[in-house]
Amino acid sequence: MKKIIGFSAIALAVLSGCSNTASVSVAPQASLLSDTLVVSPNDNREYKTLKLANYIEVILVSDPGAEKSAAALSVGVGLLHDPMSQQGMAHYLEHMLFLGTDRYPDTKGYSDFMTKNGGAHNAYTWLDITNYMFKINNDAFDEGLDRFADFFKAPKLYPEYTDKEKNAVNAEWSMRREMDFFGQFKLARKMMGDHPANRFLIGNLETLGDKENSSLHKETVDFYNKYYSSNIMKVALISNLPIAEMEQKAQKYFADIKNKNIEKPTVTAKLDFDNAGGKRVFYAPNEDVKQLQLDFTIANNNSEFALKPNRFVAYLLSNEMPGSPAQLLRDKGWVSQLSASAAPNQYGNYGSLNVNVELTDEGMKNRDEIVATIMQYIDLIKKEGVDSKYFNEIRTSLNNQFKFLEKG
Ligand SMILES: [Zn+2]
Repeated sequence: MKKIIGFSAIALAVLSGCSNTASVSVAPQASLLSDTLVVSPNDNREYKTLKLANYIEVILVSDPGAEKSAAALSVGVGLLHDPMSQQGMAHYLEHMLFLGTDRYPDTKGYSDFMTKNGGAHNAYTWLDITNYMFKINNDAFDEGLDRFADFFKAPKLYPEYTDKEKNAVNAEWSMRREMDFFGQFKLARKMMGDHPANRFLIGNLETLGDKENSSLHKETVDFYNKYYSSNIMKVALISNLPIAEMEQKAQKYFADIKNKNIEKPTVTAKLDFDNAGGKRVFYAPNEDVKQLQLDFTIANNNSEFALKPNRFVAYLLSNEMPGSPAQLLRDKGWVSQLSASAAPNQYGNYGSLNVNVELTDEGMKNRDEIVATIMQYIDLIKKEGVDSKYFNEIRTSLNNQFKFLEKG
C-alpha cells in the first residue's frame, strides 16, 4: 500500500479585494503603458522596438560584448486552443515545425547546423503561448535566422514523421505526470468546470492520432494555417551587431512571414464560482512534503501590472511583521515557511493567487486553524485597503532591484 506522506489543502475562492477588474479587456492607463522602453541604469546595451509591416512586434538588443547571438519568436496561441479532437496539438505542432522547410528540407539539417556552430535550440508550449528560440556563434547568426524564420513561412510538417513526434510528446507527458507540480496544477484546473483551462495538457498517444472524424496530419496543417499568423507573433533578437544592422536582419527574415490578420485567440469563458470555489482537496504527493495551499482564482489583472495589486497582497501575506500569520504560526511551531505569489494570466482570463505553507508535524495537526488565521488576515487586508506605507516599501524595493538589475 502506498503510504500517504503528506496532504495539501486547496481552497479555491475569489479574492475580490485583489482586483476590481471584471475582465481583461479593461483599457490600460496610457500613462502606465507607454511605448518608451525603460532600461535599468545598470544595463548599457542598446535597445530598439519596432513593428514590421506584417505587424510582428520586434525587440532588438545590441551588445558589442555578446559572445553568442540569439533569437526568439513567440506565437500567441497555446494549449488552451487545442482542438478537443487532438488535445496537445499546439505542443505537437511545436515539435513538427522543427523538421524542415521548403528551403531547408533535411529533417536533421537544423540541429546539425546548430551543433556545428556552437548553437542550441529549443521551444516550449504553454497555455496561451508557443515560444521558439536558439542561440548561436555570432558569425553564424545570419544563416541561423534564415533557417529559423523559414519554419514560420514554409514548414514541411512531414506526415511520415507523425509517429516519431507523437512518441516524443508522449514521453514528455509520461515524465511530467509523476511530478507533484503537474498533479496539483491538474487538480486546480479540474475545479474549473467548463472553462478551457480544465483540459488535458501536453498530449499523449491516446489524444494525438487518427480518429473517426479527425486526421492528425490534417488537423496539424489546419492548426498551423489558422494560428501561425505574423500579427500574433513577437520576435526578440540579441547580438553583437549595431542596432541598424539588426534592424535590417529583422526586416529581411521576419517581414515576409504571412499576415493572416487573425484575431488573437483569447479565453472569455466565465467561471461559475458557486461550483468552482470553496473546495478542500486532499492530495497525496509523490515527494515527501507537508504542505497546505490556499489557491485563489482571480480575474486576470495584467492590465494593472504597473500598480502591482498582486504584489501588494502577496507582500502582506508573506511578510513576518509582528501579528502577521507567518510570525504567529511560526512562533507556534506550526509552519516553517509561508509565502504568497500570483500568476494573473495562468488560465487566460483568470489567474491564481497562491498562499503556500510549509508545515511542521505539529502544523499538520492544526491545518484548520492555520487556514482560519490566514483567512482572517485576508479579511483584515480587505477591510484596511491599500496602506501607502506598504505600497511605498514595495516601490522602493522594486526600484532598487531594477536599478541594480543583473544583465540577463
Ligand atoms: Zn515537447
